[in-house]
Amino acid sequence: MKKENPYIPTPYKVLDFYRETPDSFTLTVSMKTKHDPGQFVQVSLPGIGESPISICSDSREHIKLNVREVGNVTRALSQLKKGDTLLMRGPYGKGYPMHHLKGNDLLIIGGGCGIAPLKGVIDYVENHRDDYGEVKMFLGYRSPNDVIFKRELKEWRKTYHLQVTVDENPHGQFCYDAREGFITEALKEAKLSNDKKIVFLCGPPIMMKFVIGILHQKGFNDDQIFISAERLMYCAFGVCCHCMIRGKFTCMDGPVFRYDEIKDFKND
Ligand SMILES: Cc1cc2nc3c(=O)[nH]c(=O)nc-3n(C[C@H](O)[C@H](O)[C@H](O)COP(=O)(O)OP(=O)(O)OC[C@H]3O[C@@H](n4cnc5c(N)ncnc54)[C@H](O)[C@@H]3O)c2cc1C
Repeated sequence: MKKENPYIPTPYKVLDFYRETPDSFTLTVSMKTKHDPGQFVQVSLPGIGESPISICSDSREHIKLNVREVGNVTRALSQLKKGDTLLMRGPYGKGYPMHHLKGNDLLIIGGGCGIAPLKGVIDYVENHRDDYGEVKMFLGYRSPNDVIFKRELKEWRKTYHLQVTVDENPHGQFCYDAREGFITEALKEAKLSNDKKIVFLCGPPIMMKFVIGILHQKGFNDDQIFISAERLMYCAFGVCCHCMIRGKFTCMDGPVFRYDEIKDFKND
């Protein structure tokens, strides 16, 4: 495996482009790397800009990136086709400490595009299935049209306890056995024991706030909860300081944090 300098953008080939929803897609890129789930790369296109994107796969032969189109860089990435070139540097940051969490049951809770880094965890668990106990997943989307990883959902349902929710489904569209309503409602009703359980949580800040409240009510402690924080960042190696949370760099100390380490970050 060739060792690239992680600070220098390097060209890679797009191996596959898959349209997930009207405003999001998954790229498979020719970067061969060893990474932890939850780490991210800085993706750029010359003359347009650079964006941090989480790696959402667990292969050493290539990486997958799920991207939501929100602005210049992400919209330009959406125009890429198989065989095109993009620039990347990384992987960066601290991901989920999977090695230290062996032997635990896992509760994976994701909302919207926050499900992308969690897919990296799920792929990792599939490749190391004997190291972990029961896996329960709660994945929430705004509507059936916003469901990312449709192909994977079918497979995950065969192996794991999976609850999918959509905030609203006014036309009663088929949607992977999703229940209508917020993910928080499904969680409130779920029978969950906190014994030997680790929670991986990623989603919009408001969703994470309410989910953590429910987890507390169900007896979970802050040190059982790992969250992935997406902060605006530029350099990704602790110089620009845009991504600081309570004296910690999201880019280097995170983006994955154990919740007790940053629980008061909302006021910073
Ligand atoms: C560690 C990390 C991992 C990320 N992983 C993913 C991922 O897997 N998939 C994905 O689609 N996106 C991810 N993001 C967010 C992604 O980096 C931004 O959406 C992207 O940089 C926007 O660039 P743009 O030029 O397209 O839009 P811009 O024109 O820069 O911004 C468009 C809008 O998005 C907002 N925005 C920009 N960056 C962020 C950010 N970091 N967090 C919240 N809002 C932002 C801007 O304020 C603006 O409102 C991640 C961000 C971080 C920090």
